[in-house]
Amino acid sequence: MGPPGAGKGTQAEKLTELFKIPHISTGDMFRKAQKDGIELGLKAKSYMEMGQLVPDEVTIGIVRERLAEEDCKNGFLLDGFPRTVQQADALEQILNDLGTHLDAVVNIEVAKDFLVERLTGRRVCRGCGATYHVKFNAPKVEGVCDKCGAKTIIRKDDQPETVLDRLAVYHKTTEPLKAYYEK
Ligand code: AMP
Repeated sequence: MGPPGAGKGTQAEKLTELFKIPHISTGDMFRKAQKDGIELGLKAKSYMEMGQLVPDEVTIGIVRERLAEEDCKNGFLLDGFPRTVQQADALEQILNDLGTHLDAVVNIEVAKDFLVERLTGRRVCRGCGATYHVKFNAPKVEGVCDKCGAKTIIRKDDQPETVLDRLAVYHKTTEPLKAYYEK
């Protein structure tokens, strides 16, 4: 867990490599569905572009399907899910149904001023999805991915106006989950 721009994706990649478990990012799943032009992508697109959350019934459904896949049998790491209390309740139910449970919830705290700078300077590879930052983690050649050579782009929802909306949604809807999991 953590606000947009905290580094959830970056840390999740490191942890999933270390533990050899799947990295399940709902944001990545939605972006892939858009790239592939499938219905899920269309459903998510307008919400994502406005910095709003995709409706719970859509999001919970894709997580339920994903966690039932074979590669999740020995563990998994969720990144960016749950983001609402309703999603957290649904996750409990899904895990119960699968006969498993959460081992830990990791919460990354970053001050708001840093988040804005981190999000607006973020660049992502349109080919492989690798993440960069113009100041803190620039690719060797500007605008070109180190890993696959494709162009790096700005995520639509990393535009300054949208970033503030996403942070507001986080504080209102997702931050209460800290107390939920502390309990
Ligand atoms: P992320 O890559 O985690 O920052 O997610 C990008 C966008 O995808 C979010 O701003 C939401 O619009 C959508 N999204 C990702 N995960 C969820 C979720 N658990 N619930 C609702 N919307 C989500």
